[in-house]
Amino acid sequence: MTDIPHGIPHTAPILVIEDDAGFSELMATTLAEDGFSCQGVTSGRAALDWLAANSPLMIILDYALPDMTGARFIEQMRELGMEIPFIMVTGRDDASLAVQMMKIGACDYLLKDTTFLDRLPAVVARTRHEAETRERLRRTELSLRQSEARLMRAQKIAGMGSWEWNIQTGEIYWSDELFRIFGLNPADHPKIEMEWLFTLVNPVDLPAFKKVIFAAAKSGQSFNIVYRIISSTEGEIVVNSQGEVECDADGRARLVSGTTMDITARIRAESEIQQLINYDTLTGLPNRSLLHDRLKLAIAQAARDHQLVGVLFLDLDRFKGINDTLGHRVGDKMLKTVAKRLAACVRESDTLARLGGDEFVAILVGVHTAEGITTVAKKILALISEPIYIDDQEIYTSGSIGIAVYPMDGDDSHTLLKHADLAMYQAKELDRNNFQYFSREMNIKVLERMMLENSMRKALEREEFFLVYQPQVDARTGRITGMEALLRWQHPDLGLLAPDKFIYLAEETGFIVPIGEWVLRSACRQNKAWQQQGLPGVRVAVNLSAKQFGQYHLDEMIASTLLETGLDPEWLELEITESAIMKDAEQNATILNKLKEMGISLAIDDFGTGYSSLSYLKHFPISRLKIDRSFVRDITTNLDDAAIAEIIIAMAQTLKLSVIAEGVETRAQMELLSFNNCIEMQGYLFSRPVPAEQFALLLRDGLKY
Ligand code: C2E
Ligand code: MG
Ligand code: MG
Repeated sequence: MTDIPHGIPHTAPILVIEDDAGFSELMATTLAEDGFSCQGVTSGRAALDWLAANSPLMIILDYALPDMTGARFIEQMRELGMEIPFIMVTGRDDASLAVQMMKIGACDYLLKDTTFLDRLPAVVARTRHEAETRERLRRTELSLRQSEARLMRAQKIAGMGSWEWNIQTGEIYWSDELFRIFGLNPADHPKIEMEWLFTLVNPVDLPAFKKVIFAAAKSGQSFNIVYRIISSTEGEIVVNSQGEVECDADGRARLVSGTTMDITARIRAESEIQQLINYDTLTGLPNRSLLHDRLKLAIAQAARDHQLVGVLFLDLDRFKGINDTLGHRVGDKMLKTVAKRLAACVRESDTLARLGGDEFVAILVGVHTAEGITTVAKKILALISEPIYIDDQEIYTSGSIGIAVYPMDGDDSHTLLKHADLAMYQAKELDRNNFQYFSREMNIKVLERMMLENSMRKALEREEFFLVYQPQVDARTGRITGMEALLRWQHPDLGLLAPDKFIYLAEETGFIVPIGEWVLRSACRQNKAWQQQGLPGVRVAVNLSAKQFGQYHLDEMIASTLLETGLDPEWLELEITESAIMKDAEQNATILNKLKEMGISLAIDDFGTGYSSLSYLKHFPISRLKIDRSFVRDITTNLDDAAIAEIIIAMAQTLKLSVIAEGVETRAQMELLSFNNCIEMQGYLFSRPVPAEQFALLLRDGLKY
């Protein structure tokens, strides 16, 4: 206890109240030998005055003072709030007075007899020692009370209560704050029983609570547990209790003590944050981040139980259109409805998530066969295509679902989701409102496609496209009469790509329209340039895809291209396939007529592979037929093909159409075609398609074959 400051200064004097000045002097000299200094006063009144300004080490007090008794003096001193140790001195040997003096708090009682001065120093020393001890005790108590108050304040601020459980006696102590947490008044619960406490704990959490409590009592284990209790004022709240165990000398648990804290607000804040982090605000469904967690769990569990996990990736068809035409508010309501419908299709243990936009994912767990997954997919598609009513509007939608299954299609959440996404993409491609299981071949195809599509977006501006030219030849003279412009793509990663690798995609995505314009302009510009260089004038044939017909004002686009490049229309030929023309025969006839009027010639490409109906040809202003190279290829070996080629040539002559054979690779083919009156030809025999610079040389120097 050395750290508690000494209450009474050593240097403080002893106040001697004694009307006999000689005796007072005697006491002072005696005590001075032991290092004490004395202040003498001769009356109670004088002593009180002195005390008003000084604090003595102690008081030596004569009982019989001239103005009051010693008892009265002590009384008055105490009334003034002073608590100073005192020794009573009296001349009478009176036992009852001694008792009375001790009762009013005298530290000692001394009789003025012959041994008085001998005994005085020891009594004073003991009194001082006792006074010091009392003072230390007082201060300790004070600081204890202060720290208790501080603890209580701290507990209140922290919402933390403390408790003690004496295992041996069964007594339980609760701090005031703990009562407050439980919403109880301490006065109503003078005695706390463990059984009663159990009734306040949420029954679901009770077994765990009992377990840690009894483990603590039995084996001295400290604990930290979160559980729910019923507070009389707050209802159900969440608390966190931490407990430590004290053991007796035998190592037996004696006392469990600890703290209990109301963590409801924290849990709520945490769960709100969790909600924000993990859930989609519109539908309340888990978002992508939680989806991955759940999927990981599902995979781990399925691995253990040898089960499948089905990952269904749903994308609404035409949702963007609905959003754009009916507004975002309707779009949002629709997504909420879809979320509800999805929930009706899966089980409680499954997970539904929204990835954003109109993309949803369902994780199906505890599945043994693919049929189970198929059933759910069908159910979802059926339910989604039911009409949705929003603000008296009847809205129809449908969905496309891609399915990936653990473990076949991947064994981690990212792969499975990616594969389900790819399968969904495929489902959309094939036909909307259906589902597709992931397959590896599909994966490669779809990935390639996605990659191509992305790079195609940039190919035009990066000038990765270029044209090659293949001569069309008058087989009688070997003279070049025309050329076909053929598209090539110098892909940054995949190298040189021929049209069959990407034209289909350009058509599907609509990129063919800008690409086609570019081809037309480049071919016209190149042809004009050659003419300006003085090279012999030839036709340039440009392929048009079916999609380009659908394009608005195709005729105007072509007219302005000719104007811009300065190429005379007679040097331009457009190649169109039969199927492209037949797609919208009537409208196409109008456009083709306009083009014909401009002076542009039209050729039917790949002739013989499509409708090949004579009657339709009459509807269109066609100038040339191109015999498809599949007939040319086998013309010398296959009698049927030879017959077809012969008929096409004869037919063209009747209709007064020019005819050209494509894909002529051998002299034999050339001779047979010539024999059948086909004059113009195109093929490797004469030249492969070549870059512009090379073609310029062919134009200048003529062909060598
Ligand atoms: P197509 O219009 O029938 O073009 C003829 C194709 O046959 C060209 O293939 C050409 O290289 C090839 N060919 C020429 N002579 C022979 C030969 O003797 N033997 C063999 N085996 N093949 C020969 P390419 O350049 O790969 O073009 C393929 C198809 O791509 C074209 O068929 C055409 O339909 C399309 N295409 C090419 N360029 C364009 C274009 O700019 N726009 C559009 N829309 N389609 C194009
Ligand atoms: Mg062609
Ligand atoms: Mg062709």
